[in-house]
This record gives sequence, C-alpha cells and structure tokens, in this order.
Amino acid sequence: MVVEPASSEILNFRDVRNRRNRERLDRAIPAIFPAQVLQRALSRPFVPPLPRLAIDGYWRAHPLRADRLARSLAARSEAPEGWRWSLALQGAREPDDSRLAQSFRMPPAPYREKRFLLGKGHCCVCGQRVYRFGWHEDVWGTGENRNAEWHAACVAAWRFWNAPSDQVAVLKRVQRHRCAESGKRLWRNAEVDHKVPLFKVWREHRDLEWPRLLGFWGLPNLRVINRDVHARKCAEESKARRQREGRCTQGGFEPRLPTVRDLLKSLQAAEAGDFG
Ligand SMILES: [Zn+2]
Repeated sequence: MVVEPASSEILNFRDVRNRRNRERLDRAIPAIFPAQVLQRALSRPFVPPLPRLAIDGYWRAHPLRADRLARSLAARSEAPEGWRWSLALQGAREPDDSRLAQSFRMPPAPYREKRFLLGKGHCCVCGQRVYRFGWHEDVWGTGENRNAEWHAACVAAWRFWNAPSDQVAVLKRVQRHRCAESGKRLWRNAEVDHKVPLFKVWREHRDLEWPRLLGFWGLPNLRVINRDVHARKCAEESKARRQREGRCTQGGFEPRLPTVRDLLKSLQAAEAGDFG
C-alpha cells in the first residue's frame, strides 16, 4: 500500500533541506555577491546550495535580461577579422569539424567556430572573458575562469534564442497579453513569431555586421501572436517564397533546387522516352 506523505511532512522535509542548503550556500558564498541573485536564491522553495547554481537559476528566470546582456557583451567583442556568417555544408562526404551552424535557424556565433575559438576563459557566445561562477565581470578580482567557456547569462540567452517558444509566458507579459498583430486578447495557444522570418534574415541580411545580427534572435525580433494570425502569416510567406522562386527560375539568375516531385517527373519523362 502506498502511503501519501502528509503536507506537514513535505513542509518539514523542505525546511530541513533548505536549512542544510542555506548553510552550504553561506559557507561557499564570497563576501561580495550580486545582491539580486542572492535575494532570489533565498526566496526559492528550494534554496540552491552553491553560488554557481544561484547564478544559473537567476539568469534562467530572467531570459530577457540575459538576452540583452549577451548582445551587449557581444557588441564589445565585435566579429573576428575575416569572419562571415556561413553554414555547414549539408550532405558533405567528409565529417565537418568546423563547428559551423547546421541551419540558418541557429544564431550566428563566430567564437564557437573552430577557426575563431578563443579557448577556455572566454565565452564562446559573446567572445568576452568569463570570470568566477560564470559571471561576466571580475567583481572578485580573481581574473578569468580558466575552466569556463560560457557566461551563465549567455547560456540562458543561447537557450532563449534557440527556443523562444519556451518563454511564451514571459513574452505575453511584455505585450500585456495582447496579440502583436491583431491587438486582440492573446489566446492560451498563442505562438511566438519572428517578425522578420529567419529564412529572410539568412537570405537578405546575411552580411549585416555581427553582433547586430543577433538582434534577429532576441527580443527586438520576437512577438506573440494568436495561432490563426500566425497560420495566415506563414501561408502568405510560403506563397511569396514560391512566387519568388518561380520568378527567379524564369529570369535564370537563381536556379531553384529540384524538388522530389521534379525528379520524379524527369524520371517518368525519361522512361517514356521524352528527353526534351
Ligand atoms: Zn558571453
């Protein structure tokens, strides 16, 4: 027989665990520590036992701050000399160890690429030095952290840029629960949309300087819209894309890659003896 613990027992377990975690945190925390991070850590239902966990939790809870900070840190670094946003070759025979992004959906990150790696002690997202606890400033005067390759804030920003839908609740709050397109109240199933679609960023803004490019993955290019509005927008975009591809093929300056349907058609034509 399974016996459910009484709520008082759960509370008691939480109190005991929190007391123990609080003691560990007190022992590990340095005299100087970001006040907002400590305040949040101590107000959690389960207090994180280590400063590093307190910092990670803080940035996870504030993805928009992390997004802003990561982009401003990247602005201090600028793009390395000779870098251009490129993607890994699809279907290449040789294994690709360049660490180039596989898709235009991933934010460009020059310092993650093999050619421009700065190594331990530097953040591979923004290119700036990483300090104690993955912090972005050397508030402890201990110099760069030779074991770290990411800022805690940049980890949170990277997650946000790659999966903004996970933060739909935060983005809805920013918009005061109104659809960014129709102005109507947002429904429960409202979706996160890139104002400028990422395929368009790759096609039309590829040569914009980094890190301004990162703005297309961050808050400036994100909005929440109701699902019906989103579906309509996607249908219009793919219609425009088809028309554009059609025009390009006629003009002969940007050949369209053959689709599976094209290949089947040409096979059928070959079987029928029609090679024209
Ligand atoms: Zn960083």
